[in-house]
Amino acid sequence: MVLGELGGSITRALQAMSNATIIDEDVLNECLKQITRALLQHDVHIKLVHNLQTNIKNIVNLHELAAGHNKRKIIQQAIFNELCKMLDPGKPSFTPKKGKPSVVMFVGLQGSGKTTSCTKYAYHHQKKGWKPALVCADTFRAGAFDQLKQNATKANIPFYGSYTESDPLKIAVEGVETFKKENCDLIIVDTSGRHKQQKDLFEEMRQVAEATKPDLVIFVMDSSIGQAAFDQAEAFKESVAVGAVIVTKMDGHAKGGGALSAVAATKSPVIYIGTGEHMDDFEVFDVKPFVSRLLG
Ligand code: GDP
Repeated sequence: MVLGELGGSITRALQAMSNATIIDEDVLNECLKQITRALLQHDVHIKLVHNLQTNIKNIVNLHELAAGHNKRKIIQQAIFNELCKMLDPGKPSFTPKKGKPSVVMFVGLQGSGKTTSCTKYAYHHQKKGWKPALVCADTFRAGAFDQLKQNATKANIPFYGSYTESDPLKIAVEGVETFKKENCDLIIVDTSGRHKQQKDLFEEMRQVAEATKPDLVIFVMDSSIGQAAFDQAEAFKESVAVGAVIVTKMDGHAKGGGALSAVAATKSPVIYIGTGEHMDDFEVFDVKPFVSRLLG
C-alpha cells in the first residue's frame, strides 16, 4: 500500500521540524507545506487538505503556547487528530444485528470491486455465525449473476438471481423476500455498476433502494481512482442514502487518499477495506490504528 509513503513523507516533515532549534511560525508553515504537498500527492482532495491546514493553524497557536510546552508534540498530536477527523464522520454506520434480518445494499461503479466485496462481507459474517445471503440485482452486465453465483457457491452462501429476468427491481424484491422467509439475517443486494447513461444507473439504484428499503447502503470504491474519489462518492451519496464505505484494492499501488475523500463526500465511515482478490482479503477498518500506522 502506497499509503506507507504518505506516512513516510509526513514523518519526515515532522522530523525536520523537530530538528529546528526554535519552532516558530516559519518552521510550522514549512512543516505544514510539506504535509500538504504529501497529502495532495496521495490524492487527498484539495478541499480537505486546505481544511486540515487551516484547522492545525487554528489549534496550534505558537504565540499562546507558554515556554516549556512541547510544541513538537502538540503539533504532532494536532496532525494526528486532524487526520483521524478526516476519516471519522462523527457518527457510526448502522450495524446489523445477528439473528435480526437486515438488508444491506451495495452500490459502486463497475470494476470497483462491488461483487467481490459483497461476497467478502457475507463470508466475513458467516464465519462469525451469521446467516448471510446474496441477491444479484445487476441485470445490466452479462455475467454478473454467474460471477456472484460462483463466489457464493465457493463460500457456501445462498444466492438469488436470474438469467432471464431483466427487471432488477423484481429480482431485488423477490430475493429479499425469499431470504427473509428463510430467516437469513444478512441479506446483501448487489446492484448494477454501469448503465447506458450514468443517470440511468443512479435512477435504478434509487428505485432498488426504494423497493428493498435497505437498512444500510454501502458504497464500494476502488482506492486507485485518485482525485476522482470525492466527486464520485458525492454523486452516489446524492442518489442513495449511503451509510458506509468499503475501499477496495488497498493492496495495490493505490495512493489511498481517495478513502479520506470518500468519507468526507459521503459523511459515512469506511467500515472495511479490500486487500486482495481472495475471500479473506478483507479487513475491518479502524480509524485510530490506521492513522497511527500511517504516521509510523
Ligand atoms: P464490480 O464490477 O464492481 O462488481 O467488481 P468486481 O467485484 O468484479 O471486481 C473487479 C476486479 O477487481 C476483479 O478482478 C476482482 O478480483 C478485483 N478486486 C476486487 N477487490 C479487490 C481488492 O481488494 N484487491 C485486489 N487486488 N483486487 C480486487
